[in-house]
Amino acid sequence: MEKRKRVLVKFSGEALAGDNGFGIDTTILKYIADEIKSLVIHNIEIGIVIGGGNIIRGVSAAKDGIIKRTSGDYMGMLSTVINSIAMQEALEHVGMEVRVQSAIKMEAICETFIVRRAQRHFEKGRIVIFAAGTGNPFFTTDTAATLRAIEIGADMIIKATKVDGVYDRDPKKFPDAQKLAELTYDRAMDDNIKVMDDTSIALAKDNNLPIVICNMFAKGNLQKIIEGNLSCCSIVR
Ligand code: UDP
Repeated sequence: MEKRKRVLVKFSGEALAGDNGFGIDTTILKYIADEIKSLVIHNIEIGIVIGGGNIIRGVSAAKDGIIKRTSGDYMGMLSTVINSIAMQEALEHVGMEVRVQSAIKMEAICETFIVRRAQRHFEKGRIVIFAAGTGNPFFTTDTAATLRAIEIGADMIIKATKVDGVYDRDPKKFPDAQKLAELTYDRAMDDNIKVMDDTSIALAKDNNLPIVICNMFAKGNLQKIIEGNLSCCSIVR
């Protein structure tokens, strides 16, 4: 049998919030579930990482010094578990088989991350959502997504955002900003670009993991990318 493509898709927590700016908008959950379903139907193995920014970010929680940064970060990791459970429900709602695996053990809620077990889920056609980030404070879910993508041997990581790719400067401030179709890992770490935090880009670079940045709100984009049509995104490799 031909080897199936395996892809890790990263969504930010904020993406789930919709116009509210916080919480979880089920219309968006359903939209994402349908997009992911179209990939699974086309025989792609899908891992998912969702951020927690719509609920709590460690840095903001610890801003005034009352909550310690490490505790804030654990609260942030728990936020990603909440989002992951919501996503699991939405995917099951559209008929997918899904497992959530958390980096922090919480056996009444979901499985614990075990890479070999995740591999088995993929082989059976299940979607795996990796929750609780890396399980360590001071990291981001972008780093967690890159780490999991490498561990599961993904062909690429797709960072699904609200923009259609990477620009040479902020397109909101500079109308003449140019979209970059392809860029190197080193360029992606440039201060004006900052596709992801440096830790995740360095990890992707060391392991030759391509990073694709695309607009998740354009229907069919994920499918196009996986078919090799990169006109709708930017790729770091
Ligand atoms: N976090 C963490 N370790 C990790 C991943 C996440 O401590 O490995 C915490 C951190 O506080 C972060 C929060 O979880 O701010 C939510 O994740 P993130 O900010 O990456 O979410 P996003 O911006 O993608 O919504």
